[in-house]
Amino acid sequence: MRFKRVAAVAAAATLALGLAACGGDSDEGTGSGSSAKGIVGKAQNQKKLVIGVKADQPGLGLQTGSQYEGFDVEIAKIIAKGLGVDANNIEWKTTVSANREPFIEQGTVDLVVATYTINDERKQKVNFAGPYYIAGQDLLVKADSTLTGPEALEGKKVCSVQGSTPAKRIESDYPKAQLQQFDAYSKCLPLLEQGKVDAVTTDDIILAGYAAQDQFAGKFKVVGNPFSSEPYGIGLKKDDKDGCEKVNDILKAAASDGSYKAAWDATLGKSGTPAPELDTTKLTNCGSV
Ligand code: GLU
Repeated sequence: MRFKRVAAVAAAATLALGLAACGGDSDEGTGSGSSAKGIVGKAQNQKKLVIGVKADQPGLGLQTGSQYEGFDVEIAKIIAKGLGVDANNIEWKTTVSANREPFIEQGTVDLVVATYTINDERKQKVNFAGPYYIAGQDLLVKADSTLTGPEALEGKKVCSVQGSTPAKRIESDYPKAQLQQFDAYSKCLPLLEQGKVDAVTTDDIILAGYAAQDQFAGKFKVVGNPFSSEPYGIGLKKDDKDGCEKVNDILKAAASDGSYKAAWDATLGKSGTPAPELDTTKLTNCGSV
């Protein structure tokens, strides 16, 4: 670990020197100055990155004006910094659950850091570094609801998002629930408030952020009975194995130098929940499925 961190620092220094002599401005590192491809090449040559994040998930990825904030945003900044790109040179792009793979495949974004569960189906299309956090699917209900878990959803109206793993799980494992799908979870909240749906389902950490929002204070509760494992990855082009390995190296460094904990403490940790351990033995091998 220590060796790798030293190597990373040395690499960053080399990068800085190399950049002084180059003004490449082409995609994916094909310009002058570096023969590296993928995100490593783009970061070296252009000194900027386009990163997809969520815009409506408090504590994780929340847009206010032109600013984005949250744990995912901080993780994205750590990755960009490790690649030699200043936070000011990140172009943030709002993603919703369903457009993450297409945005990566089409090059609309270089990276996605957006509560993005690593799974085999998605690995057919994109590569994943991470995981940097493990969430679990849960239910958000009205504070006085007696719903206790997904088994109780039969005949009930549940709201979720197209292209998300929670919506797919309801369809496959709880087909008797009446699923309504939108493009973003925040659209489910007024429906829950008005009693037009019985529950909202997605990852517990996302739901907790909504429950804690001022405008919903005291109105909702997270059931607290997670029924899946959602390992959050950093998505990038399927063939960018080097970029993926580099991102995993950056995560390893962030686990040991305190920047992962600082990212948590500045965002989700404000509620008092201590930072989780980033288990670097579980990082992906960056291969395809
Ligand atoms: N982590 C799940 C997923 O990637 C749910 C959260 C989301 O839709 O962003 O589908």
